[in-house]
Amino acid sequence: MATGRIVIIEDEADIVEVMSYNLSREGFDVFAYSDGESGRKGVRERMPDLVLLDLMLPEMDGLEVCRRIRESRRTARIPVIMVTAKGEESDLVLGLGMGADDYITKPFSPKELVARVKAVLRRAEREGSEGIGEPLERGGIIVDPERHEVCVDGEPVDFTRAEFLLLYALIAHPGRVFSRQILIERIGDGSIVADRTIDVHINSIRKKLGSHRDRVETIRGVGYKFIDSP
Ligand code: CA
Repeated sequence: MATGRIVIIEDEADIVEVMSYNLSREGFDVFAYSDGESGRKGVRERMPDLVLLDLMLPEMDGLEVCRRIRESRRTARIPVIMVTAKGEESDLVLGLGMGADDYITKPFSPKELVARVKAVLRRAEREGSEGIGEPLERGGIIVDPERHEVCVDGEPVDFTRAEFLLLYALIAHPGRVFSRQILIERIGDGSIVADRTIDVHINSIRKKLGSHRDRVETIRGVGYKFIDSP
């Protein structure tokens, strides 16, 4: 039996029912909210292991709820799966840019839902157990936050503070799309940073990664992601 707490934010009662039934049966504790505002509060109260977040919601839409979850230090690391209807793909990309971990498209089968939830939880657990401060290794690139060191194919490479923080954020969550705004928050030194500044840092990071440069991928109109396998 799985254990863990899941918050569902979804306004369609029949979908909530399918989700609740199947996730409860797997052993999860499920809490459902039918609009964005109460859902956002619910996440803060329940501190779940995962959030299933519908895109089109009354009061506050899913993108905004996702942004708020990521913005708060307390809830920033809670995995979010976006639930979208067919044809909402452009919004979907934006959702990933807001820091969602994965998405599922309606209509979905209960089996698909449970598999997706478990996969994201496993990934989050693995990332969590790496802990903050542990060196991360991704196919030839090692980032060690304690020593502030980056090694590319065994060779140490000098990174500035901002470059280091950006690379660390990207590499800690391979495949997750980061918007420029979220990356600006990661540098977080209180100064006003323009979107363009992030692009300049990213160009510099790519140069320093040498043959691994293409693993930092540009998502047009949204931001950047890191590709796990070279
Ligand atoms: Ca909806």
